[in-house]
Amino acid sequence: MMREPGPFSDSLSTPQPERVGRAAISYRPSASILTRASGFMSDYDYTLNPYVGCAFGCTYCYAASFVRTLDQRDHWGEWVEVKENALAKLRNMRTDLRDKTIYMSSVTDPYQLVERRLGLVRDLLAILAERGARLVVQTRSPLVTRDLDLYARFTHVRINMTVTTDSERVRRIFEPQCPPNAARLNAIAAVCRANIPCSITLTPLLPVEDVDAFATALCATEVDDFVVQPFHAERGRFVAGTREPALALIRDLGWDHVAYRRTVDRLRAVLPHLAEGRAGFRPQ
Ligand code: SF4
Repeated sequence: MMREPGPFSDSLSTPQPERVGRAAISYRPSASILTRASGFMSDYDYTLNPYVGCAFGCTYCYAASFVRTLDQRDHWGEWVEVKENALAKLRNMRTDLRDKTIYMSSVTDPYQLVERRLGLVRDLLAILAERGARLVVQTRSPLVTRDLDLYARFTHVRINMTVTTDSERVRRIFEPQCPPNAARLNAIAAVCRANIPCSITLTPLLPVEDVDAFATALCATEVDDFVVQPFHAERGRFVAGTREPALALIRDLGWDHVAYRRTVDRLRAVLPHLAEGRAGFRPQ
């Protein structure tokens, strides 16, 4: 089957953006596009990260610990590297991808702002669908709905939307560059309506201000599967300047292990299916 060229293919011959939003964009070749999965993701065959770095810049992001330089870590959220040879690498891979399980993405968000400009993920999806891969997509971005036509081509696919709180106040402190909570819920509801398998991942679960209203909003998406995981302030990695406001908010809202457990128990009583931790991230 012929693959429609996406905007990334087209952009190879046109000037590439050097800045999108507050993030500096650079372009580097990568040794590979699929990485053998390990650790938390070891239930998968591969992870796929089209970008290095993430302009969503969540203050607690563990991926910031895996970067090459201290400068990159300290400026997490302000830079993104595009794997400029990602399409060629995937296209030329000889490995049979039929029924191989792939998690996109483990250390970046595939649908961050730069993707809207480049369309790299869109082109990667067309190849993965054609080659019969089994895909799980993890994002915080409504942009995922742009590619519903491609997701419909997969035999096995799941889209996970991360929603960490009901509160825009909490979201702005921990995830200041991420899309608002309501936009994420609307997007995953659209995925659900398109009959693409999907989940909402409450990971990490940040302070929730009104648990009952939150549960109602989650159920209104008509998503059936939810995953929750705790946020540990003492283990969280806050980027410079956010630690104090974040910790103060956690203290104000009394968000500790007891509050987490109480919130999870109330959500579990209402949500159709709530898995906890790694079990909820297994391949489809
Ligand atoms: S969206 Fe994901 S990868 Fe990006 S900063 Fe937030 S936690 Fe990290």
